[in-house]
Amino acid sequence: MANPDFLGSRKVGTTTVLFPYGCNDSSCGYCDVTVGNKSYMMMASVDRPGENLLGITPDDYKTLLDRGWRRSGNIIYKPDMRGSCCQEYTIRLKSSAFKPNSKQRKATNAWSKFIHGIDYKRDQVQKYPISREEKRRKRLSPFNVVEKIHESEYATLKAKNPLEPAHKFEIVLEENNFTEEKYQLFEHYQKKIHNDEASEGGFKRFLCANPFKPPYSVDDKGRKIGAYHQCYYLDGRLIAMAVLDLLPDCVSGVYFMYHTDFSQWSFGKLSAVREIALAEEGGYEYYYMGYYIHSCPKMRYKCEYQPAEILDPECYDWHSFNDDFRKILDVKPYYSPSLETILTTEGSEQSMTLLKNYYINTKKGISSTHDDTVFTTDMSGVVKLEDISPIIDDTRILVGRKLAIAEMISGWEEMPIDEPGNAKHKIAEAIATLGLELTPKVIVCLALGQQ
Ligand SMILES: [Zn+2]
Repeated sequence: MANPDFLGSRKVGTTTVLFPYGCNDSSCGYCDVTVGNKSYMMMASVDRPGENLLGITPDDYKTLLDRGWRRSGNIIYKPDMRGSCCQEYTIRLKSSAFKPNSKQRKATNAWSKFIHGIDYKRDQVQKYPISREEKRRKRLSPFNVVEKIHESEYATLKAKNPLEPAHKFEIVLEENNFTEEKYQLFEHYQKKIHNDEASEGGFKRFLCANPFKPPYSVDDKGRKIGAYHQCYYLDGRLIAMAVLDLLPDCVSGVYFMYHTDFSQWSFGKLSAVREIALAEEGGYEYYYMGYYIHSCPKMRYKCEYQPAEILDPECYDWHSFNDDFRKILDVKPYYSPSLETILTTEGSEQSMTLLKNYYINTKKGISSTHDDTVFTTDMSGVVKLEDISPIIDDTRILVGRKLAIAEMISGWEEMPIDEPGNAKHKIAEAIATLGLELTPKVIVCLALGQQ
């Protein structure tokens, strides 16, 4: 056994510390069932100044995104794709490879035209004509996403010439703090778009709280890192806002809301193009636009941002997210290319039954019980118990405010790993969902109240 004094003297510092909630079964916003949206959850920070040891590093969170996790406020969760009513696939897009389609290009240009106003273009042509060569370059060059998205912004326009556009449009990337103006926008959006009530507490929990452990403001390449609000101001009024996570090598869209006074301008498209441009310009390789939900027609628009990649929910390889992949999802709601290869290659009767069970969503509509764990529910994409056993004893845990390792828990050796309810099973669940690569970097907090 390791020396407890040595472990106790270590500082938790900037290490990721997570509190496992366990399995959760909630209502689904995509298909409106009251239970059936299943996931495994962990708390990554608590709102208790000076007391908070919990938190996740942006690096570790990026690793989790690539294992199908996402966050809601300071809660991180991994959907059980096999057991849920709707399958939430992780998708991403290489920001430099993005090819906007005609609708996306049109939305970007139309907004710029509205901002400029009728007189602006005429005055520009008369007073500040561009050279023939520049005209030719513009005509021949493909749609440059970064250049085009900035064409509506006041600072960009003023840098070109002193003409005043019809509207002053500004984009500000700011801290994810609460303001009354942001909340008013959220309340309006909830009511008009989701037909739902809003509360200040909910806004703070959902869109201001974040799980990231400081310090994280800038990485070694000079890129901003952390949770931000990207605010859209029109003539000084906040008209839209994106909640964004800037992470090592990616921009992850968390949420977007806008005022319905501007519904005609396709803000869904404008915001996605803007976020891709932010990734491209800021040197973040990828843009993660949230889960793709094939079963929900309203969410299918996400496949229009191409060329996209989709995450295999079992082995976490990336695949081209093209028409062929989407056609498979029409018939197999849960689809893992790696699993399909393994099972069809083996070809035995047993594996064919397994395959059938995997793809026909047999657990759909069956609500979870309180005792469910990622092992008893056969959750998608988790590490198997036999692979966890060799490393579980050394898992770092937080007991009170002191660090220990799992095998120091009293009665540890006698605890059956496959018995729900005991500490060993709970730690095994955390490892199963975090993965073998990340687990050695993480501390599992077993009792929140003792912090
Ligand atoms: Zn659903």
